[in-house]
Amino acid sequence: MDILFIEDDAIETMKFQRTLSKLNSKHKLIEARNGEEALEFLQSEKKLPDVILLDLNMPRMNGIEFLGKLKQHDKIKYLPTVVLTTSENRDDLLECYKIGIAGYIIKPLKYEDYEAKLKTVLEYWSINELVKA
Ligand SMILES: [Mg+2]
Repeated sequence: MDILFIEDDAIETMKFQRTLSKLNSKHKLIEARNGEEALEFLQSEKKLPDVILLDLNMPRMNGIEFLGKLKQHDKIKYLPTVVLTTSENRDDLLECYKIGIAGYIIKPLKYEDYEAKLKTVLEYWSINELVKA
């Protein structure tokens, strides 16, 4: 799968890169540091990702703002977007599901737990029929 990973924290990005390489996966990683960068990528002529992993807390354009914008564009609004956050705030969770997400994952503090959760997410989306552009 082509995975668009939207995250402002470089350490979190490294954690995800490490997880991907440990899984020996053939997934392709596309990185964006905030919602704005991600939207720019999605609106460019480049191939669309199969799945989006989205942080909520980010400068410039946060995850919820990004979701709102995503849903305004016919070409990209169906891309499955899984929120990956430390926010256990129920308002955030409800807002995300209201706008439309494919999952809401709380990032575990322990690396082993993080890896296990992300492995499950990627395996799950790998067996799905994807929107594909
Ligand atoms: Mg963040």
